[in-house]
Amino acid sequence: MSFTKYEPVRFRSPEYIAVWSQQVAATSCDISKDAREAMKDMAVSGYPNEICGLLLGRIDADGWHVSEARQVTNMNIERASDRFQLDPAGYQAVDRDIRGRDVEIIGVFHSHPDCPAKPSPTDLDGAWEGFLYPIVSVCEGEVLDIRCWEPHDDTQQFHPVLLTEAVQ
Ligand SMILES: [Zn+2]
Repeated sequence: MSFTKYEPVRFRSPEYIAVWSQQVAATSCDISKDAREAMKDMAVSGYPNEICGLLLGRIDADGWHVSEARQVTNMNIERASDRFQLDPAGYQAVDRDIRGRDVEIIGVFHSHPDCPAKPSPTDLDGAWEGFLYPIVSVCEGEVLDIRCWEPHDDTQQFHPVLLTEAVQ
Protein backbone atom coordinates (compact mmCIF):
# COMPACT_ATOMS: atom_id res chain seq x y z
CA MET A 1 0.00 0.00 0.00
CA SER A 2 1.46 3.35 -1.00
CA PHE A 3 1.73 5.74 1.91
CA THR A 4 2.01 8.91 -0.15
CA LYS A 5 -1.43 8.15 -1.53
CA TYR A 6 -2.77 8.61 1.98
CA GLU A 7 -0.84 11.79 2.69
CA PRO A 8 -3.00 14.49 1.09
CA VAL A 9 -1.04 17.56 -0.03
CA ARG A 10 -2.38 19.61 2.86
CA PHE A 11 -0.54 17.35 5.31
CA ARG A 12 2.73 18.50 3.74
CA SER A 13 1.89 22.20 4.01
CA PRO A 14 3.72 24.45 6.51
CA GLU A 15 0.44 24.96 8.44
CA TYR A 16 0.12 21.24 9.05
CA ILE A 17 3.79 20.54 9.69
CA ALA A 18 3.89 23.38 12.25
CA VAL A 19 1.24 21.58 14.31
CA TRP A 20 3.34 18.58 15.32
CA SER A 21 6.75 18.34 16.90
CA GLN A 22 9.38 16.18 15.20
CA GLN A 23 11.13 15.43 18.46
CA VAL A 24 11.32 11.93 19.89
CA ALA A 25 8.47 11.07 22.26
CA ALA A 26 9.30 12.04 25.82
CA THR A 27 6.22 10.53 27.43
CA SER A 28 4.52 7.22 26.90
CA CYS A 29 1.12 5.62 27.14
CA ASP A 30 -0.20 2.12 27.18
CA ILE A 31 -3.54 1.12 25.77
CA SER A 32 -5.23 -2.15 26.68
CA LYS A 33 -5.81 -4.65 23.89
CA ASP A 34 -9.58 -4.22 24.32
CA ALA A 35 -9.38 -0.44 23.95
CA ARG A 36 -7.05 -0.72 20.97
CA GLU A 37 -9.31 -3.22 19.20
CA ALA A 38 -12.39 -1.11 20.02
CA MET A 39 -10.82 2.00 18.47
CA LYS A 40 -9.86 0.06 15.34
CA ASP A 41 -13.34 -1.47 14.99
CA MET A 42 -15.01 1.94 15.39
CA ALA A 43 -12.66 3.53 12.83
CA VAL A 44 -13.41 0.78 10.31
CA SER A 45 -17.18 0.74 10.83
CA GLY A 46 -17.37 4.54 10.69
CA TYR A 47 -15.30 4.77 7.50
CA PRO A 48 -15.35 6.94 5.36
CA ASN A 49 -16.43 9.28 8.14
CA GLU A 50 -14.42 10.31 11.18
CA ILE A 51 -15.38 8.66 14.42
CA CYS A 52 -14.45 9.97 17.84
CA GLY A 53 -14.68 9.01 21.46
CA LEU A 54 -13.28 9.10 24.95
CA LEU A 55 -10.57 7.11 26.66
CA LEU A 56 -10.94 5.88 30.21
CA GLY A 57 -8.08 5.04 32.49
CA ARG A 58 -5.62 6.74 34.79
CA ILE A 59 -2.55 8.95 34.61
CA ASP A 60 0.56 8.62 36.73
CA ALA A 61 4.26 9.52 36.51
CA ASP A 62 4.76 6.96 33.71
CA GLY A 63 2.10 8.52 31.52
CA TRP A 64 -1.35 7.45 30.42
CA HIS A 65 -2.81 4.03 31.09
CA VAL A 66 -5.86 3.49 28.92
CA SER A 67 -8.20 0.67 29.85
CA GLU A 68 -11.30 1.44 27.79
CA ALA A 69 -12.41 3.34 24.68
CA ARG A 70 -15.98 4.61 24.36
CA GLN A 71 -17.43 5.98 21.14
CA VAL A 72 -19.19 9.34 21.31
CA THR A 73 -21.26 10.73 18.45
CA ASN A 74 -19.41 12.96 16.00
CA MET A 75 -21.57 16.10 15.92
CA ASN A 76 -19.89 17.43 12.80
CA ILE A 77 -22.22 16.28 10.05
CA GLU A 78 -21.23 18.78 7.36
CA ARG A 79 -17.56 17.79 7.39
CA ALA A 80 -17.89 14.29 8.85
CA SER A 81 -15.14 12.97 6.58
CA ASP A 82 -12.44 15.21 8.01
CA ARG A 83 -13.66 16.94 11.16
CA PHE A 84 -14.97 15.80 14.48
CA GLN A 85 -16.81 17.39 17.35
CA LEU A 86 -17.62 15.36 20.44
CA ASP A 87 -21.27 15.34 21.39
CA PRO A 88 -21.38 17.09 24.82
CA ALA A 89 -24.31 14.90 25.89
CA GLY A 90 -22.19 11.84 25.09
CA TYR A 91 -19.37 13.22 27.19
CA GLN A 92 -21.71 13.79 30.12
CA ALA A 93 -23.15 10.30 29.79
CA VAL A 94 -19.69 8.73 29.99
CA ASP A 95 -18.77 11.02 32.87
CA ARG A 96 -21.90 9.96 34.79
CA ASP A 97 -21.32 6.32 34.01
CA ILE A 98 -17.82 6.21 35.52
CA ARG A 99 -18.77 7.98 38.74
CA GLY A 100 -17.61 5.88 41.67
CA ARG A 101 -15.26 3.84 39.49
CA ASP A 102 -11.48 3.98 39.71
CA VAL A 103 -11.08 5.50 36.23
CA GLU A 104 -11.36 8.93 34.69
CA ILE A 105 -11.62 10.42 31.22
CA ILE A 106 -8.01 10.87 30.12
CA GLY A 107 -8.11 11.24 26.38
CA VAL A 108 -9.95 11.79 23.13
CA PHE A 109 -9.43 9.56 20.11
CA HIS A 110 -10.58 10.05 16.55
CA SER A 111 -10.01 8.52 13.14
CA HIS A 112 -8.45 9.99 10.01
CA PRO A 113 -10.11 8.39 6.97
CA ASP A 114 -7.59 8.15 4.10
CA CYS A 115 -5.19 10.43 5.97
CA PRO A 116 -2.10 9.84 8.10
CA ALA A 117 -2.31 9.52 11.89
CA LYS A 118 -0.95 13.05 12.30
CA PRO A 119 -2.91 15.89 13.90
CA SER A 120 -4.34 18.71 11.82
CA PRO A 121 -4.51 22.43 12.70
CA THR A 122 -8.20 22.00 13.59
CA ASP A 123 -7.27 19.13 15.92
CA LEU A 124 -4.97 21.54 17.74
CA ASP A 125 -7.69 24.19 18.05
CA GLY A 126 -9.97 21.82 19.90
CA ALA A 127 -7.38 19.99 22.01
CA TRP A 128 -7.16 20.03 25.80
CA GLU A 129 -3.75 19.98 27.45
CA GLY A 130 -3.25 16.97 29.71
CA PHE A 131 -5.38 14.73 27.51
CA LEU A 132 -4.03 11.97 25.29
CA TYR A 133 -4.96 12.17 21.59
CA PRO A 134 -4.62 8.91 19.68
CA ILE A 135 -5.35 9.16 15.96
CA VAL A 136 -6.36 6.06 14.03
CA SER A 137 -5.45 6.21 10.34
CA VAL A 138 -7.99 4.17 8.37
CA CYS A 139 -7.35 3.88 4.64
CA GLU A 140 -9.76 2.27 2.22
CA GLY A 141 -11.52 0.78 5.22
CA GLU A 142 -8.42 -0.75 6.82
CA VAL A 143 -6.50 0.49 9.85
CA LEU A 144 -2.95 1.46 8.88
CA ASP A 145 -1.64 3.07 12.00
CA ILE A 146 -2.42 4.40 15.47
CA ARG A 147 -0.29 7.25 16.77
CA CYS A 148 -0.67 9.11 20.04
CA TRP A 149 -0.19 12.81 20.62
CA GLU A 150 -0.22 15.27 23.49
CA PRO A 151 -1.08 18.96 22.99
CA HIS A 152 1.22 21.54 24.56
CA ASP A 153 -0.24 25.00 25.07
CA ASP A 154 3.19 26.65 25.41
CA THR A 155 4.52 25.51 22.04
CA GLN A 156 1.10 25.34 20.35
CA GLN A 157 2.05 21.90 19.05
CA PHE A 158 1.27 18.25 19.50
CA HIS A 159 4.17 16.21 20.84
CA PRO A 160 4.41 12.51 20.00
CA VAL A 161 3.66 10.02 22.78
CA LEU A 162 5.21 6.58 22.68
CA LEU A 163 2.57 3.84 22.52
CA THR A 164 3.56 0.73 24.44
CA GLU A 165 1.78 -2.60 24.91
CA ALA A 166 -0.40 -2.75 27.99
CA VAL A 167 0.51 -5.53 30.40
CA GLN A 168 -3.07 -6.74 30.67
ZN1 LIG B 1 -7.95 14.97 13.19
